[in-house]
Amino acid sequence: MSQIDVDRCKMTYYPATVLRGRATPVEQIDDEIRRLVEKMKDLLVEKKGIGLAAPQAGVGLRLFIVSLSGKREDARAYVNPTVTAHGDLDEVEEGCLSVPGIWAKIRRYKKATVTATDLDGRQFTEEAEGLYARCLQHEYDHIEGTVIVNRMSEAARIAHRRQLKKLADQQEST
Ligand SMILES: [Zn+2]
Repeated sequence: MSQIDVDRCKMTYYPATVLRGRATPVEQIDDEIRRLVEKMKDLLVEKKGIGLAAPQAGVGLRLFIVSLSGKREDARAYVNPTVTAHGDLDEVEEGCLSVPGIWAKIRRYKKATVTATDLDGRQFTEEAEGLYARCLQHEYDHIEGTVIVNRMSEAARIAHRRQLKKLADQQEST
C-alpha cells in the first residue's frame, strides 16, 4: 500500500513545501491511489477547477487529473505522466487553485503529447492542443514543483505582490 492518509488530504496553497518539490513516481496503482483520485475529484469539483495534481491535495506523487468540463464524470487520471510540449507559443491568462486570487498571462506551447498510465494500469498516449494542452503543461509543472508564480513575468509578480505576501503569511500561520 502507498501509505496515504486520504481522509486527511486537503487543498494545499502556495508556497506550501509539497508544491515546490519534484513529486515521486507512483509505484503501484492500488486502492489507496484510487481513493486518492476520488478525493482529488472532490476537490476539483468543489473548487471549480479543470485540473488538479496530487501535490495540490498534499501528496507528493506523480499523478494528476483533468476534467476540461469541470464535471466529476469527465475527470480522468494520469499516473506517472510525461508531457512533451511543442508547436508555437501562446500567452494566455491562467489561474491555479493553489494560488488563489491570482491570474497572470503564462506562455506555453499550443500543443502537447502526454503519455501516462490510467487507473487500470494501461498506458496511453494522447495528442492535445489548445486548452487541453495548456492544462496538461500546467499540471505537469505541478509534479515538477513549478507553479504559475514561477512562470509569470516579473511585472506580474510585482503587480500581485500583495496577494503573494498574503499567501505566504497564511502559509506561515498554518
Ligand atoms: Zn495549478
